[in-house]
Amino acid sequence: MDDCLFCKIVAKEIPARVVREDETVLAFEDIRPQAPVHILIIPKEHFASLDDAGEDKEAILGRLLLAAAAVAREKGLARTGYRVVINTGPDSGQEVFHTHVHLLGGRKMRWPPG
Ligand code: 5GP
Ligand code: ZN
Repeated sequence: MDDCLFCKIVAKEIPARVVREDETVLAFEDIRPQAPVHILIIPKEHFASLDDAGEDKEAILGRLLLAAAAVAREKGLARTGYRVVINTGPDSGQEVFHTHVHLLGGRKMRWPPG
């Protein structure tokens, strides 16, 4: 996707503070962190949202969650806990339409979320 912000981060056309990368997944610090640790984990392949994910996305969706857990362990969040969020569609507040997982931690979270 030519005009997709996160595709440009994957292509290294826009800089990001990358914390993890493999052949299918990229993880980088959110530019407006909402917690002491706020990492975005994205598929290198573009698809707009969870609502656009068909059966063919089963493997990559699993990889995104496992990458989030691995980054959480690396950041020392496994014991204290953390939150994983996938905003999907207008009511969620999704702003970037390239599927991404938010990993948030390092502070006490409230429930329900706002
Ligand atoms: P959404 O609201 O779509 O679930 O989350 C999009 C996230 O992307 C927001 O938390 C926002 O701060 C982050 N973001 C937007 N633009 C950039 C950028 O250029 N670089 C980085 N690292 N994060 C961004
Ligand atoms: Zn994209």
